Amino acid sequence: MRVLVTGGAGYIGLHASLELLGAGHEVVILDNLVNSKREALGRLETLAGQSVSFYEGDVRDRALLDRVFTDHKVDAVMHFAGLKAVGESTQRPLEYYDVNVNGSWTLVSAMVHHQVHCIVFSSSATVYGNPHEVPIREDFPLSATNPYGRTKLVVEEMLRDVAAAYPELSVVLLRYFNPGGAHKSGLIGEDPNGIPNNLIPFIAQVAVGKRDQLAVFGDDYDTPDGTGVRDYIHVLDLAEGHVVALERLHHERGVHVYNLGTGRGYSVLQVLKAFEAVVGRPLKYRVVDRRPGDIGECWADPAKATESLGWSAKRGIGEMVEDVWRWQSQNPDGFSGLSD
Ligand code: NAD
Ligand code: UDP
Repeated sequence: MRVLVTGGAGYIGLHASLELLGAGHEVVILDNLVNSKREALGRLETLAGQSVSFYEGDVRDRALLDRVFTDHKVDAVMHFAGLKAVGESTQRPLEYYDVNVNGSWTLVSAMVHHQVHCIVFSSSATVYGNPHEVPIREDFPLSATNPYGRTKLVVEEMLRDVAAAYPELSVVLLRYFNPGGAHKSGLIGEDPNGIPNNLIPFIAQVAVGKRDQLAVFGDDYDTPDGTGVRDYIHVLDLAEGHVVALERLHHERGVHVYNLGTGRGYSVLQVLKAFEAVVGRPLKYRVVDRRPGDIGECWADPAKATESLGWSAKRGIGEMVEDVWRWQSQNPDGFSGLSD
């Protein structure tokens, strides 16, 4: 298949693109590089052993999308492009609605016009809001606690409406839990701008000496050690989940929803311990107040994806942390300053 990957220069898009290329698909990437670097694409090409078509531009730019769909006979779209920082979304909600909702609307409008019939959308476990119990199944009630989460919900709903009106469409909504890890080569990984919002890149930067200590956001949750519990899924498992979902579902009309998680939860302190074991020394932390909007625990029931796609996460927390550490220690400044 020929697949347009929006946001393909970003963290998950890079790994998914590599997995697509490895499975024999053709990849066209569109990214405006607002949260990624061109150098990452060079590394992707090195790992894939082939060149990749790249359009630098905005997913809200309809004329550019028309050009991409005219230049390439695209069979399916993986739509990763978007803004993803929860805290920032509360400060800049209009920007989040513009990029995430208007961007998806523009993309899907162009797909309908150019008769591209399959979209795989990056949704998130955040659409479950504050779940009434764990593990979380796909049929749980949906809600949002912040503008970022609401943009994901709005796009899911828009895609359902579009699928109902255009029955030839296949819409795959993949709700990721907490992605982490990096490619085994240490050549590609997560490269956040500025201070990382997420736990795993933050601990990685403490380990490599770029940050002094981890602030643990609360130790008074109703969890075994009081710190927040999440389902950390290796980015390579996520990437494989995307390719399996695409291959199985691109001709299956209608809307298909899957959790992509491991089904296991780890606390903040357990993740910290896993890093300490890999790095071989203690890492500094202090407990601070809860982060507003955080929930105590969140992990997936991934049974639906296992039963109907034959996919399950294969990699555990130890392997994830080893891979993050290889990436972070080989590239302390991420993709910045690379000459390849
Ligand atoms: P990322 O920021 O690394 O990648 C997103 C990419 O989209 C970046 O390369 C960025 O430059 C690009 N982009 C942003 N706005 C764009 C625009 N207007 N036009 C074109 N390109 C644009 O993020 P990621 O972690 O790879 O996440 C990918 C997707 O998965 C996002 O939609 C995100 O909301 C979703 N998601 C991520 C997580 C997570 O924790 N990483 C969890 C659940 C869902
Ligand atoms: N967390 C933390 N310190 C940090 C970042 C995160 O204690 O610097 C905690 C956060 O409260 C949550 C878990 O780590 O319990 C995962 O947070 P992250 O932001 O990575 O993902 P989220 O599940 O919030 O999307």
